[in-house]
Amino acid sequence: MKYSFKNFIEDLIFDIKTKLFSSKYILKGKCKRCGNCCRNILFSTKEGYIKSKELFETMQKKYPYYRNFKISGVIQDKKDFQNGALTFECKFISKDNRCKIYFFRPLFCRDYPDINPNLIYNGVTMLDNCGYYFDINKDFKSYLK
Ligand code: SF4
Ligand code: SF4
Repeated sequence: MKYSFKNFIEDLIFDIKTKLFSSKYILKGKCKRCGNCCRNILFSTKEGYIKSKELFETMQKKYPYYRNFKISGVIQDKKDFQNGALTFECKFISKDNRCKIYFFRPLFCRDYPDINPNLIYNGVTMLDNCGYYFDINKDFKSYLK
């Protein structure tokens, strides 16, 4: 898998920043090992979510890391700001929902589902039927009383 040292450092910085500013939320529940999060991945560029096959192929040529994924579907919900975005499946998920590179999987996979307040504010929730859910941290709730 093409996962460079630069990718590692970028993930690490993102991870630290997220953890420092995420005290308002806590993660509850547990993984049901359904594999949906490895089959419904969204990618975004500066212009927004990847919505066309052509753009994805361009990204694959430019960044070999994208070759680890294939298109799995498209979000069709006019009320959803992700409407039209393509979803991607990682090539390392097995038929029985196991990660074939588990010990070498990228940091963002290790951290998933991560608590990212910016995403939560923007209405991003967990995938349908995911065993995890976000809740407001008990300490933060006491501020609201
Ligand atoms: S979608 Fe949720 S329950 Fe399913 S494998 Fe991913 S983290 Fe686990
Ligand atoms: S590398 Fe493994 S954990 Fe990460 S998306 Fe692929 S199959 Fe899932």
